Parts: sequence; C-alpha cells; structure tokens
Amino acid sequence: MSEQSVDRTTFDDVMVPTYAPGDVIPVRGEGARFWDQEGKEYIDLAGGIAVTALGHSHPGVMAALQEQAAKIWHVSNIMTNEPALKLGQYLCENTFAEKVFFANSGAEANEAAFKLARRYSWDHYGEGRHEIIAFEGSFHGRTLFTVAVGGQPKYLDGFRPGPEGIRHARFNDLDSVKEQLSDSTCAIVVEPVQGEGGVRPADPDFLKGLRELCDEHGVLLVFDEVQCGVGRTSELYAYQYYGVTPDILTTAKALGNGFPISAMLTRSEIAASLTTGTHGTTYGGNPLACAVAKRVLELVNTGQILDGVAERHVMLRDWLIGMKERYGFFSDVRGLGLLMGAEMAEPWSEQTKTFVSEALRAGVMVLVAGGTVLRFAPPLNIPLADLEEALYKLEDAWSALA
Ligand SMILES: *Cc1c(COP(=O)(O)O)cnc(C)c1O
Repeated sequence: MSEQSVDRTTFDDVMVPTYAPGDVIPVRGEGARFWDQEGKEYIDLAGGIAVTALGHSHPGVMAALQEQAAKIWHVSNIMTNEPALKLGQYLCENTFAEKVFFANSGAEANEAAFKLARRYSWDHYGEGRHEIIAFEGSFHGRTLFTVAVGGQPKYLDGFRPGPEGIRHARFNDLDSVKEQLSDSTCAIVVEPVQGEGGVRPADPDFLKGLRELCDEHGVLLVFDEVQCGVGRTSELYAYQYYGVTPDILTTAKALGNGFPISAMLTRSEIAASLTTGTHGTTYGGNPLACAVAKRVLELVNTGQILDGVAERHVMLRDWLIGMKERYGFFSDVRGLGLLMGAEMAEPWSEQTKTFVSEALRAGVMVLVAGGTVLRFAPPLNIPLADLEEALYKLEDAWSALA
C-alpha cells in the first residue's frame, strides 16, 4: 500500500474529537524552532506545554535515546533495569527524595501520589481518614481520580460517579484550607505554580503555612510539579525555589523533554506503604524513558541553564509589562522563571484565541491558560536572539489588535 498524505482534515476523519488542534502540523524541530508541513518556520514559546525544556532535537538527549535504543527497550517490572536505577539514584541525590516510583504521564504520577497518601493514612490511622484537600483552579490530570481532585467539577460531568472524599479550598487562602481540614484529611495537594488554571504562583507564606498545617495534623503535603518542575522556576524543582519541602512530589512533562515519563518522589517512611503488589504499571521505569530523563536532568541541573532561566525571565517579564503599559492588553503579568502568564484586560479577555492565531501567523507559538491568560513556556535554553526575535514579532502582530 502506498503511503497516503495526511493533513488537518484527516484528524476529523480518524481521531476521537476530544481535541481541537489548530491547522498547523509541525513536522520537524530544532532548538526553539519548528517547521510545519508547508515549511513555514515558527519560534516555539510553548515548548509543547512546558515539555520540551531543552528544545527540539537536542543532540545530548537524542544521543541518550539512541544509545539506549541500541541496547534494550523493555524488560517489564518483573526485572529492574540499569537506566531506571541510575535515574532513581540521580533523583534521590538531587532532591529530598529517598524513594521514587516511575510512571508515564503526569496524571499517573498523581494517581500514584493520591493512592499512596490514602494507603499511608490507612496504614497509620486506620479506616475513614481518606480525604484529600485540593485547590480551586488546580489541574492534576484526566484520569477519573485526578479529574476529581482537580479544581474543575465540569471535567467530571457525564463521568460521575467519581472518587469520593475530595474537598476544595481557595488557592493562596490558608483560612479556607483550615475550614476544610478535619480528622478525615489524609493529604493536601497543591501546584506550587498553578499552570492550567492561569499561571498563578503560590505565595511563599501560603506554602509555608500548608507545611505547618500538615505537620500539626499529620497530613501529607503533595506538590504537583508536573508543569512547574525540572528547571522551569530557575531551580531544579519549585519546592527548592520556595524552600518548602513536600512529603510527596510528582514530576512529568519536561522530565523526558517529550519522551513520556513521570515520577513520584517521596521519603522512605512514606514509600513503605506501597508494599509489593499494591500499585504498578507496565511501562513505568522503561529503560528508554529513564535513559532520556537522566540525561535531561543532568543537562537542566546546571548553573548555565538555571541561571539562564532567571535571565530569560527578566527579559520576558519586562517585555510583558511593557506590552501592558504600551497597549493596555494585560491586567496582570505573573509567573516564575520561564512559566509566565499575562491576564488579558477588557476588552480583550474573550480574545485570547485571536492573539494565539495572530502569533502563529507571525511565526510564533504561544499558549492559553485558564481561558483568559496568555501563557509562555519556552525552552529553558532558548537562545536570547530567538526570544528577542519572537517578542519583536509578537509585538508587531499584536499591536494591530490594539
Ligand atoms: C499537565 C499536567 C498534569 C497531567 O499530566 P499528563 O501527562 O497530561 O497526564 C498534571 N498536573 C499538572 C500540574 C499538569 O500541568
């Protein structure tokens, strides 16, 4: 059979309609740039939603994948494998973790975290102490448990009944957490920087307050760093940026720079509750994924990259503030490191999609978050000249919308 050509209309022919992708189909990427089927060039300020932290086709990451691809791809968890053990060692040496569990997506890492929190509580306090407190505006994935924990009840519509025992408090509001906290609470889960909800960084005092509350009540503190981890804040993990250490941390997205992998990190005493047979996944700790992730972490966890994030943050933030002042587009500019958001002001708050499509027309890819926020998550190593060129092109395109 000859190979058929595909385009955007093929999507509607063969794909479940759960996504509504744009017309552009990227076929090749290099660094902070990619090219579509027509050969048009784009500068990537989206990074595949904070995933390709080292850019496309990074030579070091490609080499790690190719070296491992020539050795062994899969053995299952009936045996362990060297790349998984080395990645585990790396994470334990460079974070608070004493134990790790590998999975394949952010949702799966969170699923493991929530199950562990319940199991730990069951082990140590018995039945009925199973409630999880999460936050309005949060996002933890699309499995039934993670959707229920996430802050958007509408994602459960038509899928009920979902898991029970989940309460929601207001983000950055410690009093609202105290109202939800009870003898039934086993865990509090929070994104140090809410990503999908609109790029909202936690107040440092809020995270410190959560830590204190959890310590007082013997409740586990879970940080979902699926989006804000792996160098995004200018520290390897956001908890290091804030100086507040969780009991369980989940990481995914940028961990594989586009190769699917996630991890749940915790301490030995807590990990002990996931005894043999209590949880698992076929692909978790896959040698290819782990070889890639270890190389990604080694490449990101350097002064050059992390200091570079801080430098690029200033450039992006100053430009966003300038756009706010020059055109009045934004009512708020916020974010940490290279996870930045610009809240659209009136009368543009319903026009985020227009801003994104005009950006694409000008050859720059940006994202939307929480409906009314433009989100920027460029590669952590985006060349300064590429960032400058992208911002110039965006201003040129958007100034026409003023
Ligand atoms: C993207 C995201 C998830 C879900 O990750 P998947 O890999 O899509 O399952 C969970 N939490 C946060 C904070 C995210 O940004």
